[in-house]
Amino acid sequence: MDNKGMVIVLSGFSGAGKGTIMKHLLAAYPGEYALSISATTRSPRPGEVDGREYFFKTREQFEDMIRNHELLEYASFNQNYYGTPKDYVEKLLDEGKDVILEIEVQGALQIRKIFPQALLLFVTPPSGDILKERLLGRGTEDIDVVMQRLSIASRESLLMEQYDYIIINDDIEQAVSGVHSLIESEHERVLRNTSFIRKIQKELAQFSKGETK
Ligand code: 5GP
Repeated sequence: MDNKGMVIVLSGFSGAGKGTIMKHLLAAYPGEYALSISATTRSPRPGEVDGREYFFKTREQFEDMIRNHELLEYASFNQNYYGTPKDYVEKLLDEGKDVILEIEVQGALQIRKIFPQALLLFVTPPSGDILKERLLGRGTEDIDVVMQRLSIASRESLLMEQYDYIIINDDIEQAVSGVHSLIESEHERVLRNTSFIRKIQKELAQFSKGETK
């Protein structure tokens, strides 16, 4: 297998459970995946720690990062900036790690341009009604916020066809093992294994030259 890491994008509607899938994936396969930590201008939620969930930035700091080309991609979502710091992701890829970017759709499409071989996964609940129930069930948002999230989801759903696979998050364990096996299969793609193929072709060519050892 060619030993550069793979870029994996995990997107999905707010409330689809992508954060939970990520947590379970990292716990179930320790050391196999690295998670990119984004920069954002939104305020930390209770319990969030700078440098763990996000690098929390002011608008000025974020705009400096844009100007200095420090971001692989960035997008505006819900009146805030979100972006993927470039250096960290490139370092992990060079180390051969699979890097997961948990980002929204506009950013995902920018990543597709930079890394045409990135694997783009979209997490969705089984139905629109279930998404609404899950958002209401969180109990933290009032109905207006839930309706606003659903309208964002409706717009995002128009871009689902740009992704490689959808992950229907009905049962969390199934969703996690689904993501893991998609990533494993993706590693076996011919396009990702050209060095191995060249090597074995060369080895086998020796036999056709009549070498016996
Ligand atoms: P939240 O504020 O709920 O943590 O995230 C809001 C949205 O921003 C989610 O869809 C999340 O996946 C997305 N997001 C988080 N980090 C990034 C990033 O670096 N780039 C982009 N484009 N989206 C991001």
